[in-house]
Amino acid sequence: MPRRRRIYEGKAKILFEGPEPGTLVQYFKDDASAFNRKKTGTITGKGVLNNRISEYLMVRLGEIGIPTHFVRRLNMREQLVREVEIIPIEVVVRNVAAGSMTKRFNLPEGTPLPRSIVEYYYKADELDDPLVSEEHITAFGWAAPQDIDDMLALALRINDFLGGLFLGVNLKLIDFKLEFGRLYEENGDMRVVLADEISPDSCRLWDLETDKKLDKDRFRHDMGDVEEAYQEVARRLGILPEGGPGDHKAPEMVQ
Ligand code: UDP
Repeated sequence: MPRRRRIYEGKAKILFEGPEPGTLVQYFKDDASAFNRKKTGTITGKGVLNNRISEYLMVRLGEIGIPTHFVRRLNMREQLVREVEIIPIEVVVRNVAAGSMTKRFNLPEGTPLPRSIVEYYYKADELDDPLVSEEHITAFGWAAPQDIDDMLALALRINDFLGGLFLGVNLKLIDFKLEFGRLYEENGDMRVVLADEISPDSCRLWDLETDKKLDKDRFRHDMGDVEEAYQEVARRLGILPEGGPGDHKAPEMVQ
């Protein structure tokens, strides 16, 4: 097979040229980073788990009519996606105070918010992804007012659906980050679709009864059992690959 052209390499994923025009292959690495790459490390098996978890969540969201870039999973670490023009905004939805929200407003971690709050961050590593308003987004031309309306409406639907889905497996969806892209159809129409990934790298998930953190905060704050946390999320969703998250197949039964 010819070596695929690498289009982009990020902190946790690599994007390769896809098999057909308009497609990309998204490869999930075990590399982890936090605090804008000030902390880096490896979470063994994370790429395999996030590939599977993100596939599962994107497919479920597709079933309720959320447009996504996801096409299909190719193997343990790769998925085929539609090529989109990424909107340089991280859309964060929060249900409970955690992370930067606790610091910004001096709120104790775990404080339930009076309603779900949506925030926008401008994707710019050199600026540490600053919090921005709709005014900044439209004035600087990062997205049009219609794009923002679409992202907001989709983010709230996604929050409602995923909140219920995770509650069904005894997990609280504290907050999460989404990225959207513009998908150009052959007839020239443009649609805003969900892109990137949804995984314990991009969500905060706490056990419903104990508030145990089952997400990247375990890596951010050196809490241990990071791999186990990602596995536990996959296990609860009923999608833990047989034989664990390794790249190797489980031994096959010999007749
Ligand atoms: N998040 C993310 N990527 C980022 C920043 C945040 O996936 O670059 C996610 C993070 O995992 C959490 C939510 O967005 O689920 C809100 O993050 P927050 O603003 O609290 O930032 P953090 O505490 O990660 O600095």
